[in-house]
Amino acid sequence: MPRNRRIGYTTGKNRRPNGDPLRIALDRLRRDFPGKSRSWVKRALFRLPHVREVREGLYVVEGVRELGDWKPLYQVWWSAREGRWECTCYYSTFGWRRRRGICTHVASVLLYRRFKRAVEAVENRPVYFASAEVECVDVKVRGALEHRVVPLEQSDTILDCGKRRRFAVYVVSAEPEVEILCDNAPVKLQGVKVSYKVAKALLQDAQRGDAP
Ligand SMILES: [Zn+2]
Ligand SMILES: [Zn+2]
Repeated sequence: MPRNRRIGYTTGKNRRPNGDPLRIALDRLRRDFPGKSRSWVKRALFRLPHVREVREGLYVVEGVRELGDWKPLYQVWWSAREGRWECTCYYSTFGWRRRRGICTHVASVLLYRRFKRAVEAVENRPVYFASAEVECVDVKVRGALEHRVVPLEQSDTILDCGKRRRFAVYVVSAEPEVEILCDNAPVKLQGVKVSYKVAKALLQDAQRGDAP
């Protein structure tokens, strides 16, 4: 297959600025609770998809049979009076036993809160968004966090594959200045400072063909 027929939707390596939010959240949970076992952290991670935030300080955690839960839902909340996180499982038969430690429903909420903060930190991180229209056979983008290359004209036949075409190039970068290669000739682009969240929205628009 000729190379440029694959162009049209290319993404940079899925490198996230500031690293992976889930890894950051897990590191922070381990750091904040150094005495807790690996299985405690593992269970918190396993429960993470089953945590729902009702509001700040109040969460619903779905019961998971494989983890020994016998109720469909557990409520986890911050008790200002007690100065600790509480779970409905502490108030059931033998709950006092769990209450002395930190149950893994609460652990999953603690992980969820750290994960949410890490995601927000990544989304609000300043990055640079640059766009350009170029005419060439082949476009390369290097060192970007993410990018899209959208051909503005169709290549009609397979024989057109070596022909110059117009491309719209969109780049999200950690640096204000980005270099793209048009048939190996460097072209410098100047980015506009935006949040990573906004940059991703701009890239998505670009994919739909709304050229800025
Ligand atoms: Zn679920
Ligand atoms: Zn619990």
